[in-house]
Amino acid sequence: MPDYRLSDEQEEFRRTVEDFARAVVAPTAFEYDERREFPYDVVKQMGEMGLFGLPFPEEYGGMGGDYFALCLAIEELARADSSVAITLEAAVSLGAMPVHRFGTEAQKRQWLPSLCAGAALGAFGLTEPGGGSDAGATRTTARLEDGEWVLNGTKAFITNAGTDLTRLITVAAVTGELAGGRKEISSILVPVPRQGFSASKKYSKVGWHASDTRELSFADCRVPAENLLGGRGRGYANFLSTLDEGRIAFAALGVGLAQGCLDESVRYAGQREAFGRTIGSYQAIQFKIADMETRTHLARLAYYDAAARMLAGKPFKKEAAIAKLFSSDAAVTNAREATQIFGGYGFMNEFPVARHWRDAKVLEIGEGTSEVQRMLIARELGVG
Ligand SMILES: Cc1cc2nc3c(=O)[nH]c(=O)nc-3n(C[C@H](O)[C@H](O)[C@H](O)COP(=O)(O)OP(=O)(O)OC[C@H]3O[C@@H](n4cnc5c(N)ncnc54)[C@H](O)[C@@H]3O)c2cc1C
Repeated sequence: MPDYRLSDEQEEFRRTVEDFARAVVAPTAFEYDERREFPYDVVKQMGEMGLFGLPFPEEYGGMGGDYFALCLAIEELARADSSVAITLEAAVSLGAMPVHRFGTEAQKRQWLPSLCAGAALGAFGLTEPGGGSDAGATRTTARLEDGEWVLNGTKAFITNAGTDLTRLITVAAVTGELAGGRKEISSILVPVPRQGFSASKKYSKVGWHASDTRELSFADCRVPAENLLGGRGRGYANFLSTLDEGRIAFAALGVGLAQGCLDESVRYAGQREAFGRTIGSYQAIQFKIADMETRTHLARLAYYDAAARMLAGKPFKKEAAIAKLFSSDAAVTNAREATQIFGGYGFMNEFPVARHWRDAKVLEIGEGTSEVQRMLIARELGVG
């Protein structure tokens, strides 16, 4: 029988992150969001707790935990603030994980200790201004010249790309042409700051205000030949597998946001009065809350299942896509319902549900849109 209850150790860890999120993340979330400021102080404390090293071996400075522990942490952080949660998600599952999965021993020794400590942040440069869903259409190039890769091109919407802590960008680039005219795509590690590399100013976004998102440019940016990650021509396969895993963590983020909306709604429904009774005494509100709990519960089971399959070494591509698709939908719907329950206060930024509402939409876009998840699920079923 499948059993998705947390072990005592997992529950203790989840509670530790929940306490941190309540004590440190939640009280500052409004200020950072309002000022659109990267939460260096919070990130520093997360580094000290070991959150950036959760799924990595101790020999590289990690905590020796697993990917599920990372998901639990992301869920608890997102319950309080999605900007902080995506900062961790992108840094670990997109920034450091490719080095761990595909790096040489020397690359792991060079990068993982500082990434695990949260002293350095890594970013994942795949999307380009011309398109993100069709990742094979990458235009950024890297050509080998005198023992160096010379990169040219632009990447769009890259998370953690321009903070004071950003030290590494893993760039997907065309490194040649294969038989039949197909592009040979490889991943190149670009240490930053660096000549020929520039990050734009932060985008003005709808949500995730305290998360750092920028456009990146490479103009004859040179890195040593040994900065190739995971073999020449392996870039496409490697970033697809990075994204498969990442979707589970991203689903956890959606569950956290959905749960945060539920927490706020239950509390408010028991306090706010209208027509002489608490609004929670009305069935219309009760049903909204019951549906929010149902969505959150199912989305959580979906990501637990995908993570369990992944950790057991079983195929998990379809389950990760299902979890990501369902969880982002649950988050968006819960955020809309929570703002409705809060009435006018739900439209005021100092109320967390307003922030959750602005932060939710991107969950249907980032790390593969909902349409892309449906394409993946159908393809796994042999359709299309
Ligand atoms: C805040 C934020 C942070 C991000 N962080 C990162 C990051 O760290 N690294 C990174 O590489 N990327 C990042 N992204 C980019 C993100 O992954 C892309 O935005 C996403 O993959 C979609 O690509 P696109 O925006 O180019 O949309 P497009 O690919 O242009 O798609 C536009 C629309 O067309 C739909 N569509 C496309 N193809 C099909 C099809 N075949 N069938 C049906 N519908 C289709 C899409 O679903 C979408 O609705 C981030 C984005 C945001 C907004």
